[in-house]
Amino acid sequence: MSVRKIIRMGHPRLRERAVDYPVTQIGSGAFLELITDLQETLHAYGGIGLAAPQIDVGFRIAIIEIEDGMTRYGEIESIPFAVYVNPQITRLSADAAGYWEACLSVPGMRGYVERPQHIRVDFIDGKGKPTSREARGFLATVFQHELDHLDGTLYIDRIKHPSLLSFEEEWLEHHSDEEMG
Ligand code: ZN
Repeated sequence: MSVRKIIRMGHPRLRERAVDYPVTQIGSGAFLELITDLQETLHAYGGIGLAAPQIDVGFRIAIIEIEDGMTRYGEIESIPFAVYVNPQITRLSADAAGYWEACLSVPGMRGYVERPQHIRVDFIDGKGKPTSREARGFLATVFQHELDHLDGTLYIDRIKHPSLLSFEEEWLEHHSDEEMG
């Protein structure tokens, strides 16, 4: 078990479509080691979500964990640690909302991205059980951001204009108090 290196924009793995994880392998030693490494890496880097391709593993697996209290996104609802294997997103509404997103694979930057704001995610959980959950608002954005990684897509691909990309320091000074949603 170990903290893995998060690969950054420019690494070709981040642009590949990840492959389905073999469901029969869920619960295996290799699976549990991968999940532990993802969680330890997420904690070490201080993020709220991580997809396997970000540690150079080409499987359709992501984790999300939002702890109580402040994050770099401000005060948001907490979500217990969960594993999403072979997830699929369904849009439940055409309504979109925008947030200033950040990505551990694009460090030091923020970008304003608009996405559908009510979705359902169908996935296999960390114990091999088919599961489904709905997400709205910021959490819907978190899911879409993480699952985009499984298709080789980065949030910067979804920014409507380059002026909506900012370094973190300049974002804090000039944009962090803008209305979101
Ligand atoms: Zn990301």
